[in-house]
Amino acid sequence: MERIDALIHARHVVPVVPRGVVLSEHAVAIHRGRIVGILPSADARARYEADSEHELDRHALIPGLVNAHCHAAMTLLRGIADDLPLMTWLQEHIWPAEGALVSAEFVADGAELAAAEMLAGGVTAVNDQYFFPEAAAPVFRRLGMRASLGAPVLEFPTPYARDASEYLARSLAFADAVRGDDMILASFAPHAPYTVSDDSFRRIRTYADQLGLRIQCHIHETAHEVEEARRLHNERPLARLERLGFLGPDLTAVHMTQLTPAEIERVARHGVVVAHCPESNLKLASGFCPVGALLEAGVTVSIGTDGAASNNDLDLLGELRTAALLAKGVGGNAALMDAATALECATLAGARAIGLEDRIGSIEIGKVADLVAIDFGRIGLAPVYSPVSHIAYAASRHDVSHVWVDGRLRVEHGLVAGIDYDRLRATAARWALRAEAATGQRA
Ligand SMILES: [Zn+2]
Repeated sequence: MERIDALIHARHVVPVVPRGVVLSEHAVAIHRGRIVGILPSADARARYEADSEHELDRHALIPGLVNAHCHAAMTLLRGIADDLPLMTWLQEHIWPAEGALVSAEFVADGAELAAAEMLAGGVTAVNDQYFFPEAAAPVFRRLGMRASLGAPVLEFPTPYARDASEYLARSLAFADAVRGDDMILASFAPHAPYTVSDDSFRRIRTYADQLGLRIQCHIHETAHEVEEARRLHNERPLARLERLGFLGPDLTAVHMTQLTPAEIERVARHGVVVAHCPESNLKLASGFCPVGALLEAGVTVSIGTDGAASNNDLDLLGELRTAALLAKGVGGNAALMDAATALECATLAGARAIGLEDRIGSIEIGKVADLVAIDFGRIGLAPVYSPVSHIAYAASRHDVSHVWVDGRLRVEHGLVAGIDYDRLRATAARWALRAEAATGQRA
């Protein structure tokens, strides 16, 4: 008998690689945080002696979901301003609230609220863009959630920095502080083409090349953004970024709702990863990312929730379903973004968006054990013809029963280990009162 740390038996194992495959009555063997075996349960029982064994007889076991775009701390602004277009929402509500509230304490508390929500919903890794990443990092590390954190770069002052040079200096200091960290990655996060200068884009490209760090940037979020750039500079933002040498396989381009066929081809040629945030785009009436055409062109399309202030939740399983449904409606083709593809976008493609496709995103021997069990026992999920179909079209995040990150059980019975729920609720309520006092909005 081979001694290992954990053995998880599941009714269905959906490894994502190969796409669409479902293994019935299989077990995943874990040792020292890594997947060391994927085999029929009966064989696993004969071969391994595990310190902990889990019998998930109604469940589907999938790779941990990766939220490819988020602003975790903005969870504290959930529902503060709804039913507005992007620029009104940003300029009249979000930026003033952030100006009054953002601090290391705000970011730490917001990150905890976000991580508690995401982990319970099966999200094991996040690509996050927000101020004070150095305050968010210890929170994600303590709760055992993987995070790629990027401090934004902007040309105007906020409580985090005065100008682009200071934002960049803080980004570099953060990258230095987390170098070699197993759970936390640093990335560059220029906010958007309309808030970042050519000079800053050039400097970020140079640093990213030198340090081997990824870049995340909101690009072509709305038609307004593209029209303004054409009016002011006679150039579409994507063309400008290409001219600056900014496009490349290390760039995760967020939103991308406005793309011509020629631009889709250029995005594919540069190997840019797209982070598609369908619910945020719907809520702000920003437009529709042409995911069907992007996938057809060979572009990696990952899925993100965006911040809870424009969604208003961090439910990636729900986002996956919205993405799959929207792709069909927008593309006029029911075959676009089939269930297996949608699951791949929310797992393996997300892993690519944060540069971890060699470690996470699928259930394969040698990869890290970031795993999620979804309980199909609820009456609303009966009967089961296709587990992959259920994951994409029927299951909810409340059906997530267990979550492992790095081989460690982080969520059981819907509860995240290490969270004091009463204290966290009180903390969120206290920030809402401060937001109300600072902005004059109802909280
Ligand atoms: Zn965003």
